[in-house]
Amino acid sequence: MKTIAIIGGGASGLMAAYAASRSGENRVILYERQARVGRKLLATGNGRCNLTNLNATVSNYHGQNPSFVRPALEALTVSDTLELFHSLGLLTAEGEGGRMYPLSDSANSVLDVLRFALDTAGVELKAGAPVLGVQRTKKGFMVETEGDKEFVNEVIVACGGCAGSKLGGVNDGYTILQSLGHSRTSLYPALTQITSDSPYPRSLKGVRAQAMIRLERKGKAVTENRGEVQFTEKGISGIAVFELSREVSTGGACEVVLDFLPDHTVREIYGLLQQRADSAPMLSTEDLFTGMLHNKLGRTICRAAGVSAEHIGDLSPKELNKCASACKNFRINAIGTGGFDTAQVTVGGIKTSEFDPHTMESRIVPGLYACGEVLDIDGDCGGFNLQWAWSSGYLAGKNAGGSFL
Ligand SMILES: Cc1cc2nc3c(=O)[nH]c(=O)nc-3n(C[C@H](O)[C@H](O)[C@H](O)COP(=O)(O)OP(=O)(O)OC[C@H]3O[C@@H](n4cnc5c(N)ncnc54)[C@H](O)[C@@H]3O)c2cc1C
Repeated sequence: MKTIAIIGGGASGLMAAYAASRSGENRVILYERQARVGRKLLATGNGRCNLTNLNATVSNYHGQNPSFVRPALEALTVSDTLELFHSLGLLTAEGEGGRMYPLSDSANSVLDVLRFALDTAGVELKAGAPVLGVQRTKKGFMVETEGDKEFVNEVIVACGGCAGSKLGGVNDGYTILQSLGHSRTSLYPALTQITSDSPYPRSLKGVRAQAMIRLERKGKAVTENRGEVQFTEKGISGIAVFELSREVSTGGACEVVLDFLPDHTVREIYGLLQQRADSAPMLSTEDLFTGMLHNKLGRTICRAAGVSAEHIGDLSPKELNKCASACKNFRINAIGTGGFDTAQVTVGGIKTSEFDPHTMESRIVPGLYACGEVLDIDGDCGGFNLQWAWSSGYLAGKNAGGSFL
């Protein structure tokens, strides 16, 4: 019989505990720093838990070596993951873009079926027990918590990253692994809002608009995405923006260029505005974009274009053209991101080159495993990060436990 300690009762640790306990021959201890396991899991997908994505491939992942994820994604594929959850009693439903959710629309359902499975398998849960350190011994490891020392054969570090710090994201996993000889890359927050010092986001606070969002540095496009932009007190938010935040975090300040009518050319928009000017010349200039864009946004675009005529009919062709251009070329400064507090994921982590992707075992310390966000892997928005947590946790647990699922 082996004793396996899993440090961290988040998505990857819960899955690792499940896999490690499957042989039925191991003593599995799951340590959780917070009072309950899965606190972050409960907050995922706005409480709905977007637990995976049917379209997950290696291309959805980032890090120094994104292909590190391949063996794990093959060991527990998306359909294996769904099958596993179904076998635990979870019903799921497909959302937009291949996103999968529990049918109950409640993250609690995902956590509950995992908790029941661990309970049934006899996993020893030590909640409210932060692991303070791990030391190597002749036969394995000594895991230290406040007032307690446990001697174990194998250790799986599943402490997550420092994103979502309000939900318990901490640096402990990096510290523990570094104390055992591992190294890490720089850390950055991602999947969070982009902050701006331009006046527009604040004046448009609460407005949502569909847009093509392009990031430019020194006049050159660096990346773009299409989707909903939500204007906030501090900048812009929304899934499409979250997906670009990684570039701002890692690459620094840049310009955000918003195209609010990406399916229309400036010429076509000019035609629409001209039509309005012809049919309703006495309408206030503030209503130039009414019916095309959110009213507040339309007014802001006219202001950004620098037009001041009171009535639409008083706008010159040049001014109409300026307005048409402004709605396809609306610029704000990106000065940073929401930071680790609001980030959904950490860019960077413990170097994957120091782990075997087929087992998740350390290449430096035999018997030591790591999984989930603590490693230098981050995924796109849409269920990909949890899939990485499930797949890597499964592989680590299976190999540490020597179980054949
Ligand atoms: C608000 C929010 C929404 C998200 N929504 C989604 C989503 O819908 N879909 C998706 O795919 N991803 C989502 N993510 C990302 C996803 O939740 C994470 O990538 C995933 O939870 C990482 O799993 P993990 O097990 O590596 O880490 P975590 O889930 O963070 O778990 C780590 C656990 O380790 C514990 N721990 C840390 N240090 C110690 C210690 N010293 N001793 C004991 N325990 C310790 C922590 O308390 C924590 O419970 C979201 C993230 C956030 C913050």
